Amino acid sequence: MSSIDPTTISPDILARMIDVGRRLNSTTELDVLLHQIIHEAAILLRSEATSILLFDHHSGQLRFRAMAGELAEQLADMEVPIEGSIAGQIFRSKKPLIIHNVTKNDDWNPEFDSELDFKTEMILGVPLLDSSSEPIGVLEAVNKADGNFDQEDVAVLATLADLAGVAISKAQLFEELHQAYDKLNELDRMKSDFIALASHELRTPLSIILGYVSFLREEAQDAQAKQLDHMMTAATRLRTLIQDMLNLRYVDAGETMLDLSNFDLLHLMHDTATRQYEAAQTKKQQLKFHRPKKPLYIVADRGMIEVVMSNLINNAFKFTPAHGRIDIGAVQRGQEAWIYIRDTGEGIPADQHKRIFDRFYQVEPHMRRRHEGMGLGLSIVKELIEVHNGRVWVESVEGKGSEFFVVLPIKQD
Ligand code: ADP
Repeated sequence: MSSIDPTTISPDILARMIDVGRRLNSTTELDVLLHQIIHEAAILLRSEATSILLFDHHSGQLRFRAMAGELAEQLADMEVPIEGSIAGQIFRSKKPLIIHNVTKNDDWNPEFDSELDFKTEMILGVPLLDSSSEPIGVLEAVNKADGNFDQEDVAVLATLADLAGVAISKAQLFEELHQAYDKLNELDRMKSDFIALASHELRTPLSIILGYVSFLREEAQDAQAKQLDHMMTAATRLRTLIQDMLNLRYVDAGETMLDLSNFDLLHLMHDTATRQYEAAQTKKQQLKFHRPKKPLYIVADRGMIEVVMSNLINNAFKFTPAHGRIDIGAVQRGQEAWIYIRDTGEGIPADQHKRIFDRFYQVEPHMRRRHEGMGLGLSIVKELIEVHNGRVWVESVEGKGSEFFVVLPIKQD
């Protein structure tokens, strides 16, 4: 600001301002920051009242956001127009202004004093600018306790405003970021609630459809039987999709829902693999289950581990072409169970090995998909394994196949 001469500031005030600058920089809570600024301004200028007005983007006006001194309560949140006000004049010109006798100023609004039962004599105001020198508000001091505002006061308040402007815009950004974060969390919660509700509501009518179709299929013959087979396949696919959505409830409930029991992991894997193998027989794939002689007991949530195995094995069948091979097995290593599910399918590009575990992520673009699914399975797998303090990852070569590894502690702490 060209009209300011910092050499007019005395050394002791300068030393204090360096300290103020340091403190303002370490505060990101807007209200705390505004109060620190006016508190300092009141002490440094020995004024009867100090205030900060910030520009409100919604109303296009200035609004009192913080004040010190006699007027604090009454001014809270009061609006001041940009045109036809002293604060507005400072905001528009981006320059400091001293008015020794406010009653003679055209922009002075005497209603303020009468409403507040206060007598404003002189005002010193400086603009608050952000880091790109755009005005964001005005810092004002009213009535000096001992005499008139002078050039040193202008320099002090302008320097304080320089420090404050940057700190305020930083705090405002911080606040906006916080609000955006809260909003995202809220949206995520709403989405999960909706998925849980919709999948739950879809399940009942679908079971009725499946029941009647299978009943009619038993009686039907020829062309009608074929049509009913198509209906059955479509309804079963729908059931798998709904089951995926329902499984999200596990993830969102997290650890609180862990229902621990001691069971044979190999037995569970074998059952799951056999069921999926039978369902996938049109592709004539080969399944090899590598089973050690002894059972492998683990303490875990059986329902959750079943969902994990079912998703991984289902993917192995789904992404492996006809006549391909799927190898499944588990061994104990120390206090951990090491599980692998290997296929000779299409494989996964190296740069996607981590991303496939994100919710709704699929390697193929949605519109060109050849496989059914919603991209939820692996994200559920990952979260359920992590709830058990385990690890899951994939090793894969595009065009050759994939191997998914799951490592689970034998016991939960
Ligand atoms: P979905 O199978 O419903 O699309 P998933 O979360 O289970 O969702 O898998 C995400 C993506 O990871 C799949 O769309 C697929 O592109 C890839 N993927 C998962 N398993 C395999 C596999 N065994 N072989 C090849 N690609 C796979």
